Order: sequence, then C-alpha cells, then structure tokens
Amino acid sequence: MKRILFLLCISIGAWAQKSGTYLLQPDRVFDGKEMHDGWVVLVENDKIAAAGPASSVKAGKDTQTIAMPGATLLPGLIEGHSHLLLYPYNITDWDTQVLKESDSYRTARATVHAKNTLMAGFTTVRDLGTEGAGYSDVALKRAINEGIIPGPRMIVAGRAIVSTGSYGPKGYDTDMEIMLGAEPADGNDLIRVVRDQIGKGADFIKVYADYRWGIKGEDQPSFTLEELKLVNEVARSSGRYLVCHAKSKEAMRRAILAGAETIEHGDFLDEEIAQLMKEHNITFFPTLAAIDAIQQYRNGWKKGKEEEPLAVKNKKKSFRIAVEAGVTIGEGADVGVFPHGENVYEMELMAEYGGMKPLDIMKAATTVNAKALHMENEIGAIRPGLKADLMAVRGDPSKNISELRKVQFVMKDGVVYRNEK
Ligand SMILES: [Zn+2]
Repeated sequence: MKRILFLLCISIGAWAQKSGTYLLQPDRVFDGKEMHDGWVVLVENDKIAAAGPASSVKAGKDTQTIAMPGATLLPGLIEGHSHLLLYPYNITDWDTQVLKESDSYRTARATVHAKNTLMAGFTTVRDLGTEGAGYSDVALKRAINEGIIPGPRMIVAGRAIVSTGSYGPKGYDTDMEIMLGAEPADGNDLIRVVRDQIGKGADFIKVYADYRWGIKGEDQPSFTLEELKLVNEVARSSGRYLVCHAKSKEAMRRAILAGAETIEHGDFLDEEIAQLMKEHNITFFPTLAAIDAIQQYRNGWKKGKEEEPLAVKNKKKSFRIAVEAGVTIGEGADVGVFPHGENVYEMELMAEYGGMKPLDIMKAATTVNAKALHMENEIGAIRPGLKADLMAVRGDPSKNISELRKVQFVMKDGVVYRNEK
C-alpha cells in the first residue's frame, strides 16, 4: 500500500506543481481582446494579480519567475463543445461505444481525454452530453475539481434530451428496448426530465432540436416550438440555460424562438437564420472539425486530393454566411468525434473555411466562449481578479493560428500543469 501511495505521489507530482506566486515573462500577451508586446503577468495563488508592461508590475521576493522567450501567453482556452466520454468513431463506432462499453470503461478512457485536453491548453470545456454514459461527466468533473486527476474545468450537460423515436442507436430489433445516447422525453414530461437532469448535476440543458429521422434520413425537427419553450422555461427558472443541437433551418428557428442561448452545428444556416441569431444574441458553435473528420475517416475522403463531399460544401457555405452576417461565433469543435487534445483543428478550420482572422478565432475560444458559458467574470481573459487559467505557446498565433499547437505552458487555478522550455 505504501508503495502504491508513493508511486501515486510521484505521478501526480509529474503533472502538477502547487500554486504560489509566479511572474510570467513571455514575449507577448493576448489578454482575450488584443495582443500586447512586452507585457508580463503576475499570478498569486489561484488568481491573476496583475498584467501589464514589465515596468508596471511589482513582484514580491518569494515570486518564482518563469521566462518564456519567444512565447505568447493567452488565457486558458475554452472548448465550447466537447464530449469527453466519446472517442473517434473510426477507432470504435458510436453504436458500440454506447451499447457495449460500460460507464466505468468509458470514464477510464475519459480521464485520459481530460488530461490530453488540459495539456493542449484548454483549461475549461463545456461538455455537451455523455452519449449513453449516464452522469459520468458529473463524476469526472468532481474528480478533476478535487485534484484526483488532471483535467479541464468542466461545465456539463449530463445525459441531454431527445424526443421519443428520434435518436439512436437505431436499426435493432424493434422488440428490444435499446439504451439510447440521450434521455427521451416529450410534452409535459419534459418538465420532470429537465428537473431530474438538473438535480443530477446538469449545468445547462442540452436538447437535440432535430435529428436524422426524416423519411430519407434527413435532419428534421424533433420537438415542437411549444416543447422547446417549456424546456427553456423550466431550465431558466433554475438559473440554467438551453443549448440546442440544430442542423435544419426549422429546428434552428424553433430553438432561437424558444429562447436557446447557443446553437450547435447549424449545417443549413442561411441569411434569414443568421439575422434571427443576431436579433436574439445567439452564440453559434459551428463544429466544423466534426464533419471534416467524419468525411475523412468514415467516407474515405482524401482531403486536399479529392473534391469536397457535399456535407463539407454545405458546412463551408453556412459558416461563411454566419461569419459575413456578423453572427457571434464561438469555438466549439464537437471534439470526441476527433481526438481530444486536437481541439485546435477546429480553429484552423475557422480560418480555412470562413476566412476568420487568427485574432478573432483566439477571441472565440476565450472571451466569446467565456460569455457563452456565463463565466466572463471568472475566465477567458487576462486581467486582475480572474482565475489564473493561462497557457503559452511558442511563436505568435495571431500570425498563424496553428502556432496554438506548440504548447509549452499550462496553468489552471494557479497550478502549473505543463512547463517546458
Ligand atoms: Zn456534440
């Protein structure tokens, strides 16, 4: 037992150093809005104590200085759409993950996903449903918060809600009761299910406002406008908000009118929906990387060599409409469909598909996402009083967003998880 404890201490020590007072000296600081050359950041315990030109920041004598020549320091990145309980479907298809893997097995895997996410500089994730793993996200969040395992701060959906008949796994003997990837509920029963999910730990309510259940397998709305309004009203009265998966135009329209705050995917977004999103202050999470990855590993698309599949063309088109209309766009990758820790791929596609400037993409993963999570007074920026969630990369991501892959430093709540030269 002693030996096990000793080994445990070594392994924990390897990923985390206790919080203290740190003076971080990169070449430049992105504060969530702008880039500042020659700034330094002072961290005291779990908070940012000061940020500004080196001459203006006074550090005490117990301060540990971390020099980062050539590096850019940013707020810890925020992933707006993750599924830590899933992993890429080319390794194990979704049906098998949902139906044949126990919650314990999936949670064991998720601990590794959480660590990879944190080490990639993503210090917070909004996790959009366990897809059949019950409330394992609530348990994972607890283990991270208690310092048992390294991982990002988690804001979780729990099981998420679908309408009866719409969601998968599908295609099995209809005499069998198949476990679903989310919790079914309809009509007035939605009141009970929303409250139950809240009671079990949901930080917000995630609803599949449409799904591929049309006659030809196309995306069709799954809830009526009245049902979505009911979900929103019940969620709101607990201080929580509604998040809608919606690809079809009609499901997006209903979700927006029902009071959802964020729309996920939006594959068939057009000018009219873009305007409606703006009018209702929606934050749009386009999940570009999920489609891009699935087309490559499921349909064998050779990106760069073959013509783009229709799904990718649609995604590009709708994303460009949203960017040009000035819709608020968050960084939301649907990571889990592709590997955890590769989140920056979404940001690269935001540049490639939509022509977004690197600085705007950096804002999406910090300031914009913090606001979408109702956490702008805690995370997503570098200013005194905010949580000391920081990451640094070699190079300057405002010139090339891919520089965000070159992570050398990660701090969460003032604790150093990664510090390389
Ligand atoms: Zn998702």
